[in-house]
Amino acid sequence: MVEFCPECSNLLRKKVYDGNKSLFCRCGFQKELKLSAEEINKNVKLKKKALDKNLIVVNPEDKISVHPIVTKYCPKCNNKKAEAWQEQTRSADEPSTSFFRCLECKHTWREY
Ligand SMILES: [Zn+2]
Ligand SMILES: [Zn+2]
Repeated sequence: MVEFCPECSNLLRKKVYDGNKSLFCRCGFQKELKLSAEEINKNVKLKKKALDKNLIVVNPEDKISVHPIVTKYCPKCNNKKAEAWQEQTRSADEPSTSFFRCLECKHTWREY
């Protein structure tokens, strides 16, 4: 399914986060997509599976990946559970950067 932005006519990109689908555009336009009953059911199952393993389901661009939850103090609210993942920032020979997102206040920070 291809949709275009009503504001600027650019191609809308699909974003899936935590079971919620939405279309978004570079100009900031965003549209929520309604999920079919089948999809909701699938998402619930997926979430339950993730919860069982203490993992959070994140699926950008429909590619499902999971972020482990680690014990890490949030610099903002002192909550000690955070979602963790790594990203390669610059060249491949440099160590990747660790990102953390507080489960409580959603504050995101990184560590080198
Ligand atoms: Zn747009
Ligand atoms: Zn926090």
